[in-house]
Amino acid sequence: MIPAIHRPAQINVDLDAIRQNVQNEMKNLDQDQQLWAVVKANAYGHGAIAVANTALRAGATGFCVATLDEALELRRYGIPKPILVLGIVPEKWAVLASQKDISLTVGSLSWLEKAQSYLTSENSKLKIHLGIDSGMGRIGFSEDDEFVKANEFLKDNPNFEVEGMFTHFSKADSADTSYFEYQVKRFNHMKDLLTIKPKYIHVDNSAASIFKRPVKSDIVRYGIAMYGLNPSSAPNNKDLASQVSLKPAMTFTSELTFVKQIHSGYGVGYGVTYQADSDQWIGTIPVGYADGWQRSMQGLEIKVGDTYCPIVGRVCMDQCMVLLPKEMPVGTKVELISDNPQAPNFIKRVADRANTIHYEIACLLSDRLPRVYKEAKF
Ligand SMILES: *Cc1c(COP(=O)(O)O)cnc(C)c1O
Repeated sequence: MIPAIHRPAQINVDLDAIRQNVQNEMKNLDQDQQLWAVVKANAYGHGAIAVANTALRAGATGFCVATLDEALELRRYGIPKPILVLGIVPEKWAVLASQKDISLTVGSLSWLEKAQSYLTSENSKLKIHLGIDSGMGRIGFSEDDEFVKANEFLKDNPNFEVEGMFTHFSKADSADTSYFEYQVKRFNHMKDLLTIKPKYIHVDNSAASIFKRPVKSDIVRYGIAMYGLNPSSAPNNKDLASQVSLKPAMTFTSELTFVKQIHSGYGVGYGVTYQADSDQWIGTIPVGYADGWQRSMQGLEIKVGDTYCPIVGRVCMDQCMVLLPKEMPVGTKVELISDNPQAPNFIKRVADRANTIHYEIACLLSDRLPRVYKEAKF
């Protein structure tokens, strides 16, 4: 989708907050630990290249993405440093990844065998991280025999360099740590089966690191917390206490593009889910679900000028309406998502309203919204 630059609606990203979040986390790490910035999904909607460059200057020594294309984009923009693709890439792209010095996640022996046929014919060597499914149920080795065979296969193999071995936790953000501990045990068991020595053994995501889970991790794969958001995220719950201070980096702003008075009995929006019972002022904002501003935002209080006003009527594809306390001029500033954790329109409250998590709200903000950056101060 083309960014709408001739419309007063934008995502504002404070790169100095990203810098601070990275630097604060670096102080939280042990001397021998590295921070790899997770910039998948356009850096959780914040803009991959700007965030990656900021994280790099702030001390990140590697990057994680979800797809090979995201990795290629970082390389195209000249990001040096290791880049790990966390998802499974079809074997036929192993040579391309190797040419661009991109590391891939491997979760099965058959992947290795197929990838080798491509790598051998091109005489290439690919960096890989062995993904272990220790209980997430997503990707990675989970059976002992297959993992032992993969270990044999990789021993002195000219086409693969085993750069890492890792796993991913499904409940590191929960106060109940029993399943987390179960995963640690399974991961350690798999680690003991390995005779080759990867450079990095890593398990930490944001949650495991900022909640100080007792695990060793050579790399912290730092995602949501780098954007200043606390990962403990079930809708409507209270955040667990972070050991690292977090500064949210994103706001979503717009302006009223139309203001009018309606009278008793008059409806607002598709399906007439709101109907005035008196004379009222309605403002229209040029943002809708095609921007990632979902229909579930009906009823949310957002800031118009200095006042919090509820969204009334269904959110349309490209516009939505707010109930104003009085007449306000066209052009009045609107803040749809605040970076203030106390505000009713902080991203976590927005997520609560959609019965989801802030990760999803940030990622779904579409490419139609231009990203506008405040530079970091180094
Ligand atoms: C997305 C992802 C991360 C980052 O998780 P956060 O909760 O955002 O820190 C780390 N590791 C893997 C495998 C991931 O998929």
